[in-house]
Amino acid sequence: MSDFIRLLPDAVANQIAAGEVVQRPASAVKELLENAVDAESTEIQLIVKDAGKTLIQVIDNGKGMSETDARLCFERHATSKIRDAQDLFAIRTMGFRGEALASIASVAQVELKTCQADEELGTEIRIEGSEIKSQKPCQSEKGTSIAVKNLFFNVPARRQFLKSDTIELKHISEEFYRVALIHPHIKFSFYHNDKCVYNLESCAFKQRIISLFGDTYKNRLVPIEQAITHVKISGFIGKPEYAMKTKGEQYFFVNNRFIRHPYLHHAVSQAFEELIAEKSFPSYFIKFDIDPKNIDVNIHPTKTEVKFLDEKLIYGVLFAAVKKSIGAYNLSPSLDFSINPDYQPQILPSDYVPKAPRIQVNPGYNPFEKTSFSEHRKNHLNQQAYLDSFDLMQRPVESGVQKIIEHTIDDDNVYFDSFQFLKKYIVADTRSGLLLVDQQRAHERVLFEHYQKQMANKQIVSQQKLFPQSFDFTASNAEILNEILSDLKELGWDMESLGHHSFVVNAAPNEVKESELKDVLETILENYKSGVMLNRNDKHTNLAVSMACGMAVKSGVSLDKAEQKHLLQQLFLCQVPQLSPKGKPVFSLLSEDEIHTRIN
Ligand code: ADP
Ligand code: MG
Repeated sequence: MSDFIRLLPDAVANQIAAGEVVQRPASAVKELLENAVDAESTEIQLIVKDAGKTLIQVIDNGKGMSETDARLCFERHATSKIRDAQDLFAIRTMGFRGEALASIASVAQVELKTCQADEELGTEIRIEGSEIKSQKPCQSEKGTSIAVKNLFFNVPARRQFLKSDTIELKHISEEFYRVALIHPHIKFSFYHNDKCVYNLESCAFKQRIISLFGDTYKNRLVPIEQAITHVKISGFIGKPEYAMKTKGEQYFFVNNRFIRHPYLHHAVSQAFEELIAEKSFPSYFIKFDIDPKNIDVNIHPTKTEVKFLDEKLIYGVLFAAVKKSIGAYNLSPSLDFSINPDYQPQILPSDYVPKAPRIQVNPGYNPFEKTSFSEHRKNHLNQQAYLDSFDLMQRPVESGVQKIIEHTIDDDNVYFDSFQFLKKYIVADTRSGLLLVDQQRAHERVLFEHYQKQMANKQIVSQQKLFPQSFDFTASNAEILNEILSDLKELGWDMESLGHHSFVVNAAPNEVKESELKDVLETILENYKSGVMLNRNDKHTNLAVSMACGMAVKSGVSLDKAEQKHLLQQLFLCQVPQLSPKGKPVFSLLSEDEIHTRIN
């Protein structure tokens, strides 16, 4: 057999990596500006031609590179910023992956000139599509100049996908703002097609915002400041009356790095709620200083996502800080400055045991009062045509079972004792024999009928207000979630989309443990999806099945005697206790006779 696996040549590997790092001219602008900042420059020039399609050049007065480093910097994973994995949790620089220059040089013609402070001569390198064309000593100012020409010259498909100059320039400006805003002490200038777009002097943060976004911002900004042991929050928020109809200037920076954070954005929006018109957006420029060990920046190559170790805490602090600023600056005299008690994170004791789900049923309801059980079953079948597909429904109901049902409902003492077997089954000693009940399916049945009633009667659902929590879903689950968001609300879930497949949960049904929100939601969505595939066309029925399966107590969970009894009683108050909502048998009866024959 011959071998097929081959290592890719560096140039190809770099081009593949470039697909992630360099999507458009603006990505190269971001990387070059960040490198200039990391090199401790005090002055940075950005020169762009044809929206970056022809030229992107960044000139800095930073520490420069040695002759060897100048060559090495184009190698993949070549970086001076980290040395080992531990350093990932102590990052203070903008870059650290050592991928940017290698990626850029694989898809463009790059000219680098660099000179260190203590050197007389600098180094000049030309590299095209990862291939070094020349390297020679040169006269150069202290610092580094990198010119990226004809981006994607060797990847025509990528070049074709570039948008109009206006759009590409907008992206470039956005990257420029993000870097320039958070480094106000650095002088920046930005030229496009030989015209000076910005010339920013070294100044304070507020002045930098004003220089970038215009003098009108002078009266719009209110400072925000809050420090706790973990994190220091500072910056400015825009006054509510200047909130914009379009998503305007909304900037979060963590340790001087611009980030996107829909969950924290939600905290700011919540603090502004009721002060600004619906569908308008507050401006903010908010910095977080946090020990790098409490964040993980290593999520995405373009690094606009950061994960905080304690997001809930930061949410709470941010929310309070914004409210405090709004209040302190008298932007809303009638405002309550304290944190909403609902937003206090709940700390559960480690030995916390969830309560058995509270299920509301009509205790006076007796299914045998007016109609026979089989009639009930027939009615139910009519309502639930979807269950026809399960042949289990066609099974005759055993007479012993009918007796149990009657007894269990009629008389509190019909079964003498019960215990759990394998933490999966409840075994009950009844007058008719040994009753074996699958606890999960039983609970699914109970909840299913409960949710159906709830939706039919539009009952108000009791729900727990949560400290808002955000979750990411897969694209397909997010799509479904959007579709059923309002129905879920009727069932106690108060959720909002944050875009990008993320959702924030503000409230959930009482029965759901906070730590299991995501799991429960995912199970609901998975069940809903399979329901759609099984042609469970009726949306409400599908939702009731999905909710029941998501929220039911699972196999493996210990139930004490009181919980076992409660569940059995609820089960036998159901219209179709013998089947789970997905049509699986819920219980079986081992009669006295059967037991006798077995041990005879
Ligand atoms: P990273 O920034 O993740 O380390 P890059 O590919 O962007 O990776 O850069 C590789 C290395 O080249 C950097 O670690 C740095 O040592 C050096 N470098 C890049 N740009 C500059 C610059 N403008 N001034 C000085 N050194 C630079
Ligand atoms: Mg870099």
